[in-house]
Amino acid sequence: MKTEINDLVRENVKRMRPYSCARDEFSGQASVFLDANESPYGNLNRYPDPLQKELRREISLIKNIPGDMIFIGNGSDEAIDLCYRIFCTPGKDKVLLFPPTYGMYEVAAEANDIEVIKLHLDESFGIDISGAVEVIIKEKPKLVFVCSPNNPTGNSMRNEDIVTLLETVNGIVAVDEAYIDFSTKPSLLPLIEEYPNLVVLHTFSKAYGMAAARIGMAFSGKETISLFSKMKYPYNISSLNQSAVLDVIRTPGLKDSNVADILAEKKRLEISLASLKIVEKVFPSDANFLLIRVREADYVYKSLLDLGIVTRNRNSVVEGCIRITVGTAEENEILINSLKKISL
Ligand SMILES: *Cc1c(COP(=O)(O)O)cnc(C)c1O
Repeated sequence: MKTEINDLVRENVKRMRPYSCARDEFSGQASVFLDANESPYGNLNRYPDPLQKELRREISLIKNIPGDMIFIGNGSDEAIDLCYRIFCTPGKDKVLLFPPTYGMYEVAAEANDIEVIKLHLDESFGIDISGAVEVIIKEKPKLVFVCSPNNPTGNSMRNEDIVTLLETVNGIVAVDEAYIDFSTKPSLLPLIEEYPNLVVLHTFSKAYGMAAARIGMAFSGKETISLFSKMKYPYNISSLNQSAVLDVIRTPGLKDSNVADILAEKKRLEISLASLKIVEKVFPSDANFLLIRVREADYVYKSLLDLGIVTRNRNSVVEGCIRITVGTAEENEILINSLKKISL
C-alpha cells in the first residue's frame, strides 16, 4: 500500500510549531554573537549546531544518503522514542514487536502509553510472516519494529519479509540495523527511496566504538525526517559528541579494521565455545556477539560474575541462553578459561 506519511502523523504533531532557536533564524557570516544569552567566556560557551551540518555531511558521504534523509539523535534511543511521539497517539495506537528482541522498543511504548502487540519469532528466530500479516490486519498497528541483525538472537531477518511488512502495514516500519556493519547481509537503506514508511536506524555505538558519545541515526524519506527534526530537542547533540564522532569518521580505515578484528575474534570464540562441554549450542550470528545455550544458564552466569566477567543472562527471554559480546583476544581467552573452570 502506498503510504501518505501525513495521514499517519499524530494530530498534535501536525498542529505544533517547533521551537525556533536563535541559531535557526540566522545563517550566514557573523563575528559578534549576542543572540543566545551565552557566556562570552570559555571553550564550550557556544551552543552546538542544531542542524549538525558538518556531521550530517560526513554521514551522508559514508552512508551514501542525501542529508535531508538523515536524522541524528542522542543515541538510537532518541529515534526509537520519536517514532512513537510522532506517529502513535497515547492510549489509542498500537505497536507490533517480534520478541525476543531489543528491550527499548517496549520501554518506549510504555513511556508513550502505546499498547504492545507481540508475535514471537519462530524456532529459527525468523518472523512468522503469514502470522504477522494476520496480526497486522486484525490489530492495525501504527508502528512495527524489526531488529536485524536481531539482539539478542544474532540472526538477520529476511529482507522479503520486511518488504511484506512495509506493504501490509498502514504505518511505519522501523528497521533497527545497529549491528549491520558486522553483517554480510545487505542493509535495507536503499529501500528508503521506495518506501516512505520505512525508517532505518543505525548507530555509532557498536562498530564505530563510540557508545559513550550517544549518537544514533535514522534514515527515511524527507517528510519523515523533517518530522523528526521538528520534534527533537533543538540542541540534541552536544559539540563534544559531534566532534568526537567526526574524528572517528575521519580516521581512514578505523571502523573497518576494528570490525575485521572483531569478526576474526568472533570466529575464534565461536570455535572455542563450541568445544566446551557446558555449551550446548552456539547460535549463528551476524553481529558482534554470540548467543549460547548452556545447561544451567543462571548458574553459569553467576559463576562468571564471581570470576569478574559480566555477560548478559538471557535465560528469561531465550531459555538457557547467555549473550556474550566479542571482546579483545585477551578478554575472550579469559572468558573461555573461566568457562572451563565452571563445573556442573
Ligand atoms: C546497542 C543497540 C542499539 C544502540 O543504541 P544507541 O542508543 O544508539 O546506543 C540500538 N539497537 C539495538 C538493537 C542495539 O542492540
